[in-house]
Amino acid sequence: MIVSKQKPFSEILASLENISRVFLIGCAKCATVCKSGGEEQVWRMQEDLIAAGKEVTGSMVIDEACHMLRVQRDLRAKGEMVTAAEALIVLSCGAGVQSVSAGSDRATIAALDTLFLGNIRRFGQFEQRCSLCGECRLNETAGICPVTACPKGILNGPCGGMSEGKCEVSPDAECAWYQIFVRLRDRDGRPLSPETTPPKDFSKLVKPGSLTLER
Ligand code: SF4
Ligand code: SF4
Repeated sequence: MIVSKQKPFSEILASLENISRVFLIGCAKCATVCKSGGEEQVWRMQEDLIAAGKEVTGSMVIDEACHMLRVQRDLRAKGEMVTAAEALIVLSCGAGVQSVSAGSDRATIAALDTLFLGNIRRFGQFEQRCSLCGECRLNETAGICPVTACPKGILNGPCGGMSEGKCEVSPDAECAWYQIFVRLRDRDGRPLSPETTPPKDFSKLVKPGSLTLER
């Protein structure tokens, strides 16, 4: 899921300097799980904005703010309330904000900062395990991502700073490559490959990414 957190309210207010009427949009998927843009956060934002002297013309929590066609449909359904607003405040990841921006002629304000693709450890605790590098190496690394778990993103074994299995960048954390070595040896029964992993093909990361499925 996409992990996000709310921007400081003062920053959101600063974006509304010459705007008095706003419509609020949350997202029922990732932003709800992160407690950054679900029903509760939209409701609180509405109260805070009214207390700050703004008029809230309405609000909605879209099923998936990253789904551009559904966003357009939901904006149309809220027609008058959206039209009455000078700006739409969006409590979703950056993808959702852009769905809204593309689907409306109103100014769009991002209320969240989008942080990373996260695994859920437990409720309210998220960890980055994948950096979306476009060329997955997990099959060679016992399912531990060196691109993400190693602060240096090293692809060929530990750097010279590893000490007794700990990372030199974060001494409380285990070195990713030490973990890979141990898991390969103890679980998969194979050693770390002596082959040098070639540099990553960064052409696979050219932005903006797109994918169209064949029918
Ligand atoms: S190598 Fe790591 S960053 Fe790249 S796709 Fe696999 S898990 Fe994600
Ligand atoms: S000690 Fe290990 S995890 Fe830390 S930067 Fe070096 S290789 Fe990466």
